[in-house]
Amino acid sequence: MSPVKRQKKIVESVEINGNLCKGCDICIEFCPTDVFEKSDNLNRRGYYVPIVARVEECTDCRICDLLCPELAIVIKSSRQRRKTKADTSHGD
Ligand code: SF4
Ligand code: SF4
Repeated sequence: MSPVKRQKKIVESVEINGNLCKGCDICIEFCPTDVFEKSDNLNRRGYYVPIVARVEECTDCRICDLLCPELAIVIKSSRQRRKTKADTSHGD
């Protein structure tokens, strides 16, 4: 059996497009790690846009992305491969 290379997800940012948001608070209710919080920030359409209060708690589960009816949430993440022996050796 070949060894499985393990990868660790790194969440770089979670952003809400304030112009698209309709202030439904679904992201606040369903994020399992309470990344979002209510705010007093009104967008130009008159909706209160949540803030990303704890991006470091994000697990990249994408629930908010799937549930946001306005597709207003953008999560940027990358996969960081753990170093293996092959990565550290410099054989020719
Ligand atoms: S789920 Fe989307 S539309 Fe609803 S409050 Fe969150 S970002 Fe705004
Ligand atoms: S991806 Fe998951 S953990 Fe991250 S903000 Fe969205 S719902 Fe919360």
